[in-house]
Amino acid sequence: MIRRLATSAAAAAVVLMLAGCSAVLGGLYQGDRTGTVTDNIDTGTDSAVPAEEIDDEITDAIDVVDQFWSAHFSEFYGGDEYTPPTGFIPYVASGLPYCAGEEVVPDNAAYCYPDNTLLWDQALMDYLYVNGGDAVIYLVVAHEWGHAIQSQITDDYLWNAQELQADCFAAAALYGAAEDRIFTWEEGDTAEITNALTVLADETPWTNIDDHGDPLDRIDAFNDGRIGGVEGCYPVVE
Ligand SMILES: [Zn+2]
Repeated sequence: MIRRLATSAAAAAVVLMLAGCSAVLGGLYQGDRTGTVTDNIDTGTDSAVPAEEIDDEITDAIDVVDQFWSAHFSEFYGGDEYTPPTGFIPYVASGLPYCAGEEVVPDNAAYCYPDNTLLWDQALMDYLYVNGGDAVIYLVVAHEWGHAIQSQITDDYLWNAQELQADCFAAAALYGAAEDRIFTWEEGDTAEITNALTVLADETPWTNIDDHGDPLDRIDAFNDGRIGGVEGCYPVVE
């Protein structure tokens, strides 16, 4: 369980509306869930969790990640202005929203460019929260936010493995927010995140831009951001 310590005045609103067309820059993973996320803390929590509890967790995660990037983006990217995502859109499989004229896929989460919106299947979030733990909600939000960051930095700063860089950004934001005392990690959060990165990974190592990478690729990338912060997510200069 993550305990949030502060609320920003500019807490991001969860906007329940659909925006226009654009392109999906990257989802959380591809394909169906391939296994059970093991919750190392609360076993047997498959009972119904109040929807408000999950919504509150998502809102808190949005707030934490937003506070980090709002405070630090310009330190790393030449004073460039930072624009946080402007829409936060939960959806259900029976009413899929559109991005760039294409239906967003069910059972996923995504960043939509140039709408600058984050979208997620509410059923996926519910599943991850109940079976994976609250830290996974933070991971999903911070990963998709990483794609928002990618849309605002120059190509010089982009990794070819954009999905892995989003994992790196996720760690940089979450560990950076913890350093800023916006929230604290609690026992079990690391296991929740590594479990989720494993379950939501590809079967094979990263080879092309659409890949999310295998479990070790994803955990390596997350560790780059955990240890190196935002600079850990700069491309490696050969
Ligand atoms: Zn992604």
